[in-house]
Amino acid sequence: MTHMLRRWLVVQLLLRGEPRYNKRRMSAELYDVAIIGGGPAGSTAATLLARTGRRVIVFEKEKFPRFHIGESLLPSLMPTFDRLGVREQLDRTFMPKYGGEIAAACGGRQAKFYFKDGFNAKQDRAYQVTRSIFDELLLNQSRASGAEVHEETIVNELSLGERSVVLETVSAAGRKTITASYLIDCSGRQTVVGNFCHLKRSYQHLQKFSIFAHYENVDRPSGIDGTLIRMVRGLDRWFWMIPLTPTRMSIGVVMDTKVFRALKLSPEEALTKCIEEQPVVTERMTHAERVSPVYAAGDYSYRNVQLHGDRWLLAGDAAGFIDPVFSSGVYLAVLSGEKAADTLEQVLREPHRRRKLFQSYERSFNSVLKMYLSFVNSWYSGREFMEVFLNPTDILQIAPAVNALLAGNASNSFPVRWRMWLFYFFVRAQRYIPFSPRLTLTPTKAEGSALTNEPVTA
Ligand SMILES: Cc1cc2nc3c(=O)[nH]c(=O)nc-3n(C[C@H](O)[C@H](O)[C@H](O)COP(=O)(O)OP(=O)(O)OC[C@H]3O[C@@H](n4cnc5c(N)ncnc54)[C@H](O)[C@@H]3O)c2cc1C
Repeated sequence: MTHMLRRWLVVQLLLRGEPRYNKRRMSAELYDVAIIGGGPAGSTAATLLARTGRRVIVFEKEKFPRFHIGESLLPSLMPTFDRLGVREQLDRTFMPKYGGEIAAACGGRQAKFYFKDGFNAKQDRAYQVTRSIFDELLLNQSRASGAEVHEETIVNELSLGERSVVLETVSAAGRKTITASYLIDCSGRQTVVGNFCHLKRSYQHLQKFSIFAHYENVDRPSGIDGTLIRMVRGLDRWFWMIPLTPTRMSIGVVMDTKVFRALKLSPEEALTKCIEEQPVVTERMTHAERVSPVYAAGDYSYRNVQLHGDRWLLAGDAAGFIDPVFSSGVYLAVLSGEKAADTLEQVLREPHRRRKLFQSYERSFNSVLKMYLSFVNSWYSGREFMEVFLNPTDILQIAPAVNALLAGNASNSFPVRWRMWLFYFFVRAQRYIPFSPRLTLTPTKAEGSALTNEPVTA
């Protein structure tokens, strides 16, 4: 009882911004930064802050390695991987990814893009990763850099004060309360702070359902083209095919949640049926064998109306998640984890600049999210996206600009932005005036077998 009362008093004092609690106790428990979640956003922030000598603690509810979706990365992360000191390990562990290919489900039309051809490209490759291994590697780097990492520990209560934050955690060892000057919420789609503060808003037009699994022995081209992510676009669904190792491939399908419900099938049955109906997918799956359970994720697109408070920042999916289509999730997670760490490092040195630095963090992350939201909206706007994308034009370097966005190489780049506006204009105009040939995006026998046509290169 006395213990409960003392803890209640400590929390009340912290919330009032009056740090008059027991100094000895606090010095044992006060961290510069607490991080909820040890995914790519959390581990990136933890490594960078710990390396500057800050006292950092990470709480991760799972025991790594654990399955996670989000396997295809973007090349603009390479400099951050260098900064984290993991580049060589990543090179040794994962398949490179030199670009992608987008194919129409009606067959015969596809476009490949290689990152090296992107507008102002600085990197020619990214990685295709098995997330369980990738996330563990990054979290181990946080530990090696000096962060205190607690796995199998859930943050289940929060007090967000004006001068500090208090977290209550639960693990096999019991309940624990810690205090930190700042908090970064990197809890992914659990959005601990977003839910706690009622900041979360869904993108109603992007309520999608994804079903996915790993397969062995899916056919793929040899050489560099065998490393590309392949996306197959149908009328009301699209598929990803991501090569993870020389023999293993991640395959998934995405559709409107209401389309999935109308199928009245289990995720496993739906995945099998959706694949069987797409000749452009099955043509590579003659010898394929599913080697993982079937996973599903739904209604995952949202944003938070605020990305910072007095003592906290949101990063990665905990800040917002748009859609898996352009593989931007891990890019945005690592980018925001890095920016959050740099922002807090500066704030810890110059506390009087906190408000401005937090606002600037929120503005810059929101502007990148907005760029991907426009791109995603265009993708789902109808067949016209595919009709324009599969007929790339050399005019004004629009295709390299689209390629740059697909590589994550576009944040704050005005030359890319105005070219993207033109691309969106062409997609809209295509609805009324067919500059490019029309596509059905519906598999038919004749169209489906036309895949031998020469590919178009974006
Ligand atoms: C269907 C689908 C396909 C996708 N494909 C891609 C892709 O190809 N490429 C790509 O880049 N992205 C992809 N993404 C997005 C990608 O999965 C995420 O954007 C990325 O994992 C975000 O990283 P994060 O660190 O923010 O969150 P996460 O990786 O989700 O990590 C959050 C961590 O927080 C922990 N946690 C949550 N709550 C608590 C708590 N209360 N206490 C302690 N720990 C907690 C979780 O256990 C988790 O480990 C896809 C997403 C979906 C839904």
